[in-house]
Amino acid sequence: MAPPFCGYDHTGASLMTELQRLTDLSRELGRPERELVILAEGNTSLRTSADHMLVKASGAALGSAQAEDFVEVPLGDMMDLLDNPSSDDATVDAAFQRLSGTRGRRPSVESMVHAVCQVDAGATVVGHTHPLAINGLLCSRNASVLASTVVYPEQIVVLGRKPVFVPYTDPGLALAREVRRRLLEHLAEDGVAPKIIYLANHGIFALGTSPGEVLRITEMAVKVSRIMEVGLAVGGLAPLDAEARERIDTRTDEQYRRAALDARG
Ligand SMILES: [Zn+2]
Repeated sequence: MAPPFCGYDHTGASLMTELQRLTDLSRELGRPERELVILAEGNTSLRTSADHMLVKASGAALGSAQAEDFVEVPLGDMMDLLDNPSSDDATVDAAFQRLSGTRGRRPSVESMVHAVCQVDAGATVVGHTHPLAINGLLCSRNASVLASTVVYPEQIVVLGRKPVFVPYTDPGLALAREVRRRLLEHLAEDGVAPKIIYLANHGIFALGTSPGEVLRITEMAVKVSRIMEVGLAVGGLAPLDAEARERIDTRTDEQYRRAALDARG
């Protein structure tokens, strides 16, 4: 395993800029009126190099995030923990303690899921929240409709054609391994990385290439969930059929709209 490396102590202009982008996104996600997180719920990450990411420290609140609330960790160390069959919660605890660095800020327990989103799915900015609107559905018997059903076109434009759904798993090593297993299955079947991962009885991971995209994915997921909750309550959902989904996903004007949204950062 690589030696401990806690990034922003060694500083540099670009790292400070990345830290600012991540702090701004975290505060935005943590705004109380969004109802995405309370207390120290949720976490964010941003890739800083091929081998490292900044990730929120355990116990920090997104809404009042400061630069000191993030830790830079080696992605290789996170993936080693997942790959090593002898890893257990004690191994993870020791590794995270080592990564706490001189400031004593310990990476979030969900850092390993962030590493999976970055290494296996190619995301460079990731936001994990427990949105009130989405968790209503995720904590219901109908949770899987969020990933299995498309009800309107914007859902595909922003959230992609096929999300990943993960049944309830305890946070930590077990959850990171289960997310990884389902993500790799999805990539083998679909060939396209998902934009969102739904965790039953827990929350969502938004996988983006910019802070703006993570925010858009999160906002659209909240909207889709609200629509579905109403649809289910008034007699059932009317999903778009496979032909319509394919048409929307590949239409030139929708691709143009996607590119225009992505250009906003
Ligand atoms: Zn969580």
